[in-house]
Amino acid sequence: MRSSAEMSILVVDDSRMSRALIKALLEKSGYKNVKTAESASEAFEILGINGETVRETPDIDLVLLDIVMRDMDGIEACRRIKCEKLLRDIPVVMVTGKSNKETFEKAFESGAMDFISKPVDKIELKARIGSALSLKMETDRRKNRELKLIKLAEQLEQANKELHRLSSIDGLTGIANRRTFDKMVDKEWKRALRQERPIALAMIDIDYFKPYNDHYGHQEGDDCLKKVARCIANSLKRPGDFVARYGGEEFVIIFPEITGENATTIADLVRKAVADLKLPHELSKAGDYVSISVGVAVTVPLPGSSHTELIKKADSALYQAKETGRNKVVGNF
Ligand code: GH3
Ligand code: MG
Ligand code: MG
Repeated sequence: MRSSAEMSILVVDDSRMSRALIKALLEKSGYKNVKTAESASEAFEILGINGETVRETPDIDLVLLDIVMRDMDGIEACRRIKCEKLLRDIPVVMVTGKSNKETFEKAFESGAMDFISKPVDKIELKARIGSALSLKMETDRRKNRELKLIKLAEQLEQANKELHRLSSIDGLTGIANRRTFDKMVDKEWKRALRQERPIALAMIDIDYFKPYNDHYGHQEGDDCLKKVARCIANSLKRPGDFVARYGGEEFVIIFPEITGENATTIADLVRKAVADLKLPHELSKAGDYVSISVGVAVTVPLPGSSHTELIKKADSALYQAKETGRNKVVGNF
């Protein structure tokens, strides 16, 4: 943190004598950064006011403004300074020989924080500048704290989003996990019930995956799961269709608003896409490559029914697909 002696003060006065006197007094009081301007427009230049909105906070901590000046008076200048968001917190102290009530009122209205009367008294100047600068220091500290808090809140929000993402996707395959499926199927089921529309499920299971693992090793097994998951996800083209990893080597697709026939057609496209990956599987009795079996079920939900019925139906269709040769899609509707 800076000491008050290091803070910068801008003295604006159109009298060269006054400027020099105030600057000398301030420097004598220990302030090292005293700048001067002979008019409001020169002061504006130093503060970065040039017709457009001020973009950068200037290196000025306090402005001492003479009220009576030739081009623009101090009150008008103060008003202009206080219009700028980035300058608003710079305290302005008026310096004036006019000590009538009306002038005071106008100056305070324009945003000045204090007055110093001319001729300037050394002790008064020191005291008033000291309190104006400590106010500025406190404002700076508060703003810094606020900025830090805003940054922290942003980081927290980001971390929360990431946490949410991580808790909803499957770590190995990168698709939705079982938890997300449970939520999604409940939501889609309720929607189908409300709209009296059909909803379909496809249960997918990799064929002879245990022998695959045993033969190629667990690492290869993991790679295979990733490829199959990506392939299933990429095969789905309808925007509402949703895929999740249901368990070990099982996946599930939700098809909202679909006929059993169409769901079976898409499921078969998915099956073909996996077969087309041509991932060698020497121990499969269903072919030379990794394949999947799929069970499809569809229903229009009835009040009082539950999606577990639909899952059971898809499961039993999958069982039939396994029983009748694997690498195939069986519908149950
Ligand atoms: P089926 O054709 O009847 O489906 O036979 P299967 O061998 O595929 O079925 P089973 O349920 O007996 O075996 C599933 C295997 O999947 C067993 C398990 O080791 C493997 N598996 C489950 N999760 C993972 C995983 O995350 N990574 C790997 N590498 N293997 C997994
Ligand atoms: Mg299985
Ligand atoms: Mg299997």
